[in-house]
Amino acid sequence: MININISKPIIEREEIEAVNAVLNSGMLAQGPKVKELEEKFAEYSGTRYAVAVNSGTAALHAAMYAVGVGEGDEAITTPFTFVATANSILMQKAKVVFADISEEDFNIDINSIKEKISAKTKVIAPVDLFGQIYNIEGLNRLAAERGIKIIEDACQAVGAEYKGKRAGSFGTAGTFSFYATKNLMSGEGGMIVTDDAEVYEQAKRFRHHGQSESTKYEYFDLGYNYRMTDLAAAIALVQLSKIERFNARRAENAEILGSGLADVEGLIVPKVKDDYKHVFHQFSVRITPEFKLSREELMDALKNKGIGTAVFYPKPLHLHPHFKKFGYQEGDFPVAEKISREILSLPVHPLLGREEMEYIIKSIREI
Ligand SMILES: *Cc1c(COP(=O)(O)O)cnc(C)c1O
Repeated sequence: MININISKPIIEREEIEAVNAVLNSGMLAQGPKVKELEEKFAEYSGTRYAVAVNSGTAALHAAMYAVGVGEGDEAITTPFTFVATANSILMQKAKVVFADISEEDFNIDINSIKEKISAKTKVIAPVDLFGQIYNIEGLNRLAAERGIKIIEDACQAVGAEYKGKRAGSFGTAGTFSFYATKNLMSGEGGMIVTDDAEVYEQAKRFRHHGQSESTKYEYFDLGYNYRMTDLAAAIALVQLSKIERFNARRAENAEILGSGLADVEGLIVPKVKDDYKHVFHQFSVRITPEFKLSREELMDALKNKGIGTAVFYPKPLHLHPHFKKFGYQEGDFPVAEKISREILSLPVHPLLGREEMEYIIKSIREI
């Protein structure tokens, strides 16, 4: 019986040994492994600093705090993302202002942002959705001209590049998630990267109840317990040493799927932009009305052939009750709404190879 999952964490002997070593050390909470991970992750990302936390959500929240987002501020982000991106803005009591996305890469659209900028806009939080970095040239220029900071939600994009520079390094702060299904995982975990010494200090304080490391039990501000454990850091360190290999396999799988499905009527394969390295956290196709079946019928048919698929995301954030109460309604972001109806993710994770990709292609063609 064929069973091709949409995602599966890679846990090899090294990860297990690394966790055992931490258990044997007796030092389970934040300690030397976290420090080592921060140093290596900053080096990998090409940033001066990194702060490890216990989730991508915590990383986003700490980044919002550290760049100074607060009550009365507005932060612009995309409605076509995981809810954590927008929630981190609400956690800081700021206003979430959505802008529409581009059909090209499903990331936030510069023209839509231009209409949403106001005197209160403190931050723009683009998301490197599915593993491809946002439109750097356009957005960074716009933000710089207006004195707005960028927090790059790179939770899905560890190792992605634009002109040889890595994801997370394009704004004042970048955030990562090491959730179990992400390209680099530690069960739960996250990271903030930055070149800014002040943002670095603020983020460290925030994860540790508002205390600085040098002045224990002196509380400067509201903070949280967002610390990462050494157990999680030990897993992430092993995964960091393999991430280039993992991402290369994803790219190979995506290449096979992309060329094998390119001419299927009504199915649009993802586009890799010039100068960008896509790390295919998801390989997301569009199932348009010209396709022979509905998206849901295709998902069922593939399921019967042992192929798991998933929809990220079935409904843009502005149409959920949580955000509708701020006055958003159907029609506000037509591209995000259309893409939500058409998007479908196919398996490309690194435990799969050519054989599975060819089976997926053959199955879709038969269906
Ligand atoms: C996974 C993810 C998050 C949140 O990360 P957690 O580790 O689950 O808290 C935030 N933003 C995006 C785009 C994500 O994919």
